[in-house]
Amino acid sequence: MKGLVYRGPGQKALEDVPDPKIEQPTDAVVKVSRTTICGSDLHILKGDVPTVKPGTVLGHEGVGIIEEVGPAVSTFKKGDHVLISCISACGRCEYCRRGMYSHCSVAGWMLGHTIHGTQAEYVRIPFADTSLHRIPEGMDEEALVMLSDILPTGFECGVLNGKVQPGSTVAIVGAGPVGLAVLLTAQFYSPAEIIMIDLDDNRLELARTFGATQTVNSGRENAAERVMALTGGIGVDAAIEAVGIPPTFLLCQDIVAPGGTIANVGVHGTKADLHLERLWSHNITLSTRLVDTVTTPMLMKTVQSRKLDPARLITHRFPLTDILTAYETFGGAAHTKALKVIIEA
Ligand SMILES: [Zn+2]
Ligand SMILES: [Zn+2]
Repeated sequence: MKGLVYRGPGQKALEDVPDPKIEQPTDAVVKVSRTTICGSDLHILKGDVPTVKPGTVLGHEGVGIIEEVGPAVSTFKKGDHVLISCISACGRCEYCRRGMYSHCSVAGWMLGHTIHGTQAEYVRIPFADTSLHRIPEGMDEEALVMLSDILPTGFECGVLNGKVQPGSTVAIVGAGPVGLAVLLTAQFYSPAEIIMIDLDDNRLELARTFGATQTVNSGRENAAERVMALTGGIGVDAAIEAVGIPPTFLLCQDIVAPGGTIANVGVHGTKADLHLERLWSHNITLSTRLVDTVTTPMLMKTVQSRKLDPARLITHRFPLTDILTAYETFGGAAHTKALKVIIEA
């Protein structure tokens, strides 16, 4: 089969790779129908994630049809239509029993990381019973690809950890796909204000149509001053970091209101300062999280009932044979205006 293989920093290729096989009784093999590219795949390609070994098929998002199940899989059978979670979970270890699947002692983020991923025609899913979700009849596959990673990430790491409440003020720093996923799911709670901050006018304009009440271009104006002005000098109840670099983390510290929360969503590759000399008396909370995907079944229901429309994040579509172009398009978002690109296998 064909798969997109990581060949070391800066190198990737669409290659012939062996078809995945059932290796453990709890495995399933899924025929991938649609997958996508994540910001973390770009981090891997930069060499930021050394736990990914050259030769690994990338990708941790997708939907497909079950091709084969191991003898211990009881929830799914050949032919079932499934959503693949970016986090694999054994369901039995101490962390899984606490709902913290991201830190599963035998699984966690494996796909496209420590084992072959979804940017291929087939993928092996460990612990299939607890790592796949059945897709209800008649649901839009493309929209559901957004539920493998970015929607639960935005919701769990940003909205839930940021304690967004009715009437609260929220700032989202970074209007990439995950920042926009925070924006979409924050609205479950009816916050009074959602201020979107980014450098890209196109993404800010889009954020307005997605429900942002204010937008700030941090390249053109002092974002901290602007947010303070918009909030009567108080700051925001929830400052959600969705970029992953020191200046955006600093901005969150500058705009968090007394008693507020800084919820980090971004993947950080370098150390960042925490200004405790200012914040020690500010009654703030700081949270970090790797997505657990515990909210995926709930999010699927909101998509099914049309309360949430994640298909709005899809801007481009490519066949798997064109995945290198898809990477170029996704990587060049500043000029291609790409958000999420769908790859049809
Ligand atoms: Zn991802
Ligand atoms: Zn576990």
